[in-house]
Amino acid sequence: MSHDPHCIFCKIVEGKIPSRKVYEDDEMLAFHDIAPWAPVHFLMIPKRHIPSMAQLTADDAALMGRMLTLAPQLALQEGCKPYPEGGFRLLCNNGQEGGQEVHHLHIHVMGGPRPWLKG
Ligand code: AMP
Repeated sequence: MSHDPHCIFCKIVEGKIPSRKVYEDDEMLAFHDIAPWAPVHFLMIPKRHIPSMAQLTADDAALMGRMLTLAPQLALQEGCKPYPEGGFRLLCNNGQEGGQEVHHLHIHVMGGPRPWLKG
């Protein structure tokens, strides 16, 4: 399924729910988390509805690679200090026991001065 009409992140991709965008291209979107744990906290998602990493196939390798290599650049853009003094944390929850609440694959990017609310 490339789009799920009941999915909150698909609605963000479509612009039906507003978001504070960090980055957008044909395949992916990054936007600020609505309930941030850290001074910098945004989410990176594929625009296509992929429920979690469990559904990834070999065809998604390039997309996931692009997301992971873009994350450090966006972290700096959003105010994280450079590695190694600054840095950032990536988190990807998958499935119920993995702590996933929104079932559209997303990578949390968190950073900024501590303490953080969580994590
Ligand atoms: P997870 O537990 O990994 O599924 O986390 C889902 C994340 O999505 C949480 O950190 C929420 O705060 C965030 N979230 C839920 N709805 C929205 C929204 N409309 N805009 C931005 N972030 C959201």
